[in-house]
Amino acid sequence: MLILGIETSCDETAAAIVEDGSKVLSNVVVSQINIFAEYGGVIPEVAARNHLEVMMPVVKKALSDANKTWDDIDAIAVTHTPGLLGSLLIGTLTARTLAIIHNKPLYAVHHLKSHIYANWLETEKTPEFPLLSLVVSGGHTQILKMNAHNHFEIIGTTRDDAVGECFDKVAKILGLPYPGGPAITAAGRDGGDKNKYNFPKPKVDGLDFSFSGLKTAVLRTVQSELGLPISHPSHDLKNHLNKQQIADFSASFEKTATDYLLEKLEKAYTENPETKSFVVAGGVSANELLREEAAKRFPNVFFPERKFSGDNGAMVAAAAYYEIKNNVEPTDPYKLNIMPRSEIK
Ligand code: AMP
Ligand code: MG
Repeated sequence: MLILGIETSCDETAAAIVEDGSKVLSNVVVSQINIFAEYGGVIPEVAARNHLEVMMPVVKKALSDANKTWDDIDAIAVTHTPGLLGSLLIGTLTARTLAIIHNKPLYAVHHLKSHIYANWLETEKTPEFPLLSLVVSGGHTQILKMNAHNHFEIIGTTRDDAVGECFDKVAKILGLPYPGGPAITAAGRDGGDKNKYNFPKPKVDGLDFSFSGLKTAVLRTVQSELGLPISHPSHDLKNHLNKQQIADFSASFEKTATDYLLEKLEKAYTENPETKSFVVAGGVSANELLREEAAKRFPNVFFPERKFSGDNGAMVAAAAYYEIKNNVEPTDPYKLNIMPRSEIK
């Protein structure tokens, strides 16, 4: 079964063709990262306009790279929610229109489900159920339990910021570029001491997370290290930091953030000892330290191939494949509405 997956939830315009939920025949991703690096973050209106410009060329390239025509395509899948409203609109309107014109079933897929299913792409060994999934992205930090394909139970979630957002905001304080994750890793590896600063791990009951406290802890420690008052504006701190301090703050923050994520996952494992595999997903799953530490602490850990850890259309197609396998009905293209933020199901 060939599925065309379309993804535009944030600042990547992407389309891919995937066979039977795993074999990626094409995977086209046009990122707006260079545009937003200048601003230090995504501007929703600008993102939506850029999606509109490249959406159809991206879909056409996905078809031609895979050497397929519309006749070969069995279904169209699109990121439905969550994401930036304007960005989602471009993808969903494109998918709806294509489904109507080419008379294909349409699957409106939850974005986090797609990130999880990136772990089934291009891999011989697949995760076993029951599994625990740690979803770590720019907008989400969650632990989900899956007892079978297409069955999700959220057992932990962030109470405030997401971990990726925290990486981005800490990077901004340190004067590092957007996106913050890779920049923090690179700065920390440039001679940074991960034990130099001890940031407190936010104490939240159960399996929930909090990342806004960690971000503030970094801010306050930077101010105090520089001998500046807490009223000193965060955007100016970068002008006072030297290279060694930036490296030490980066390495110490990265260690605390990844430890915190994995400690919660360990707690989830203790509460769910029947777990057979661990699946990490979302943009932050590209993090090297997280990968190394998770492999040490858990049996049977899965990370997506790096090219599938960020937003892409292939993961959307894979998620839709398992919806189809679970007899989920296609969406009526005339009724698809992205306004309500639906829960993963
Ligand atoms: P997503 O929301 O899934 O597109 O992921 C984007 C988020 O992933 C951004 O907040 C990035 O800073 C973060 N990210 C990307 N690569 C890395 C990395 N190597 N380490 C940590 N965070 C990362
Ligand atoms: Mg994403």
